[in-house]
Amino acid sequence: MGNPLRERRTAADWAAGSQVIEIADKIGDFGELSAIVEADLAALDAAKIPADWRDTVVEGRLEFGFADAQQMLPTVTCRARVTVDAVCQRCLEPFRLPLEAEGELLLLAFDQNADGFDDFEVWELEEDQLRPQDIVEELLIMALPFSAMHTESAACKALSTEEDDSAEEMTTPFAGLREQMAQDN
Ligand SMILES: [Zn+2]
Repeated sequence: MGNPLRERRTAADWAAGSQVIEIADKIGDFGELSAIVEADLAALDAAKIPADWRDTVVEGRLEFGFADAQQMLPTVTCRARVTVDAVCQRCLEPFRLPLEAEGELLLLAFDQNADGFDDFEVWELEEDQLRPQDIVEELLIMALPFSAMHTESAACKALSTEEDDSAEEMTTPFAGLREQMAQDN
């Protein structure tokens, strides 16, 4: 049996069966997303590129349905998460970046209008048929930060040099204020 994530059907077809698709696919199967990750990792010395970054699994689920009782407006709810390998823009070292995507989408043809369904985001269909994977992939790409960086300073080499300062701040909460007063004088 093929992977439903990569099947092409009309939005109405997906919705008619209230199709639920469980996502458990390697990031390497998502062409555009893995091209972005690959381009990012290319900044590293070859030896530092995580050998198995393409095997990281994207997890989540898609649930198709209709927004209206007349079954004219197909919808899909998508939840997906993956932890990609990325390069920290501050210290230029690889790190693991968790991504999460969530969307409640109204799947509309370009000439279709829907008022009064504000809970949904409109997803304009470019073709008659849609491949669920493309939705998951685009949502994950949109979840990518503009600039990826270590969030914990302890893990970031560029920030670890400031470690002593931050330790002091923790123990003497008025250090910042004191500094500021010193500057004012
Ligand atoms: Zn860093």
